Amino acid sequence: MTGTLTAPGTTGTDPGWADEVRALARERDAVLLAHNYQLPEIQDVADHVGDSLALSRIAAESEASTIVFCGVHFMAETAKILSPDKTVLIPDARAGCSLADSITADQLREWKAGHPGAVVVSYVNTTAAVKAETDVCCTSSNAVEVVDSIPRDREVLFLPDQFLGAHVRRTLEREDMHVWAGECHVHAGINGKQLTDQAAAHPGADLFVHPECGCATSALYLAGTGAVPAEQVKILSTGGMIEAARATGASEVLVATEVGMLHQLRRAAPEIEFRAVNERASCPYMKMITAEALLRSVREGTDEVHVDPDLAARGRAAVQRMIEIGQPGGGE
Ligand code: SF4
Repeated sequence: MTGTLTAPGTTGTDPGWADEVRALARERDAVLLAHNYQLPEIQDVADHVGDSLALSRIAAESEASTIVFCGVHFMAETAKILSPDKTVLIPDARAGCSLADSITADQLREWKAGHPGAVVVSYVNTTAAVKAETDVCCTSSNAVEVVDSIPRDREVLFLPDQFLGAHVRRTLEREDMHVWAGECHVHAGINGKQLTDQAAAHPGADLFVHPECGCATSALYLAGTGAVPAEQVKILSTGGMIEAARATGASEVLVATEVGMLHQLRRAAPEIEFRAVNERASCPYMKMITAEALLRSVREGTDEVHVDPDLAARGRAAVQRMIEIGQPGGGE
């Protein structure tokens, strides 16, 4: 095998690529984890595919001494926080996240200073430094439950996703909840107009909506007006989408999240026609984990993820508090 291989399923297929990646991973005593938004060939070669938190928990329970995390950087950091004694690799450390980058630890400290006594709830799409400043983490599956566990006489600072925050605030009718105005540029690009047009073009289709999408509000509005029957609109985490795909009786499903998700949905329920609400909703950071980058990672041990032990301990406490409150299910 040479360094000139091409990515299977994209520009060509090297049939030996997957075998070589798996063999090198075994030599390195590594488990291969891939997020649902990864390229199909990366998902197919991985030992486990899932959402960020589920993968971090698999990493912690794995007996492998090395974790190769095919996802974006905050996810690999979360795996390191939960598995401080393991070596955690990400095939390309430049794979960031516009949502995680929408708030820094300094900005959070400043926000907290303006709201003494408030409880800080952070979605898992945050850096280790922000998790260290957090009281309790949440995922899109349990965000409502986590905020609901906070006494009504305490203010809540919710970050970084404004759409997930709006969903929680609306559900709990909680006015003392302040929401950071962060967003993911990929999810924000899926808008209500596209959803309305697609729903009209495909009557009878279920709508699977991820709450970080800018269209979550539109989806609920559509359901409220009766334009789309309420039982057809499902607000789900990425892990929840897989379960709902197996359970739905619909023959067609419109999916409002990053397009990489379609690969796992089609594998879970091949008899269903899955359509992206916006086919251009593709995360460029996720797609930085290429076949070449993964091969280099298992061959050379790049790029290793380090988290300061003090930050990791404080971040771990915030994640553990979430697990004590309720089932985390999946995040993005
Ligand atoms: S899809 Fe958005 S939230 Fe997810 S990793 Fe990409 S930029 Fe971050």
